[in-house]
Amino acid sequence: MNMPVALVTGGLGGLGTAICIALSRAGFVPVAVDLPEAGRVARFREALQGHPSGTIDCDVTDDAACRRAVEHAESGHGPVAVLVNAAGITRDATLRKLEPAHWEDVMRVNLGGAYHMSRHAMHGMVERGHGRIVNIGSINGQTGQFGQTNYAAAKAGLHGFTMSLARELAAKGVTVNTVSPGYVDTEMTRVIREDIRSRIVASIPVGRIGQPEDIARVVAFLCEPGAGYITGANIPVNGGLFMSF
Ligand code: NAD
Repeated sequence: MNMPVALVTGGLGGLGTAICIALSRAGFVPVAVDLPEAGRVARFREALQGHPSGTIDCDVTDDAACRRAVEHAESGHGPVAVLVNAAGITRDATLRKLEPAHWEDVMRVNLGGAYHMSRHAMHGMVERGHGRIVNIGSINGQTGQFGQTNYAAAKAGLHGFTMSLARELAAKGVTVNTVSPGYVDTEMTRVIREDIRSRIVASIPVGRIGQPEDIARVVAFLCEPGAGYITGANIPVNGGLFMSF
């Protein structure tokens, strides 16, 4: 019998690979959908330690490439039961200095990518009457952040996408949720200036930066068969940095 497949965009990145490992432990075949780069593919394979997994070269801003990625995953690995939209970029600048290209790039990857991938991955899920879509948002989409009008708008928009698609797919056995990480130790946060990074970490109530596994654990939980009653939700995983209800 085919093991269910979990497509993870940005799967070669810090959070994406941790999510793939957690989903592999949960019985899925994780397939990283990401921009091609030989060194990172080798690191991904090593991290998965020989467990069934795959990688597909795909730019999530390209709708036709996303369709081919889903087809390729289904023909090569099996039915896609899970889609995690984790591909993301930052192009930080205050609005005064924010170039149109950097606005567009962030929208196209962080928000558009989820649209392109979800629209192609959901068909099989609906046909089979079961599926899980998890969108990776951000604490900065909830609070806003200096120098991140583009990123915060894309991440806040992503949760609007989650809630709307959750309503469309709820009766079909497909749940759609957002997981909003706080600051996590990956390439994305290693570029933050050291003094700013230290200030941020000092303000996190649990007293440390998040690890990719902190986020991956929650994503895997949402993908369990028993999590079918959770849909349209935003789950913050931020060490208490932003508390709300
Ligand atoms: P990362 O830079 O390690 O990973 C991002 C991945 O997205 C990379 O592998 C990159 O190649 C991929 N990607 C970028 N553009 C792409 C495209 N056009 N097509 C396909 N793949 C593309 O960063 P990360 O920290 O692992 O981030 C993962 C997600 O988590 C992102 O959506 C990010 O916004 C979100 N997030 C991260 C943090 C954090 O503190 N690290 C906090 C909140 C949210």
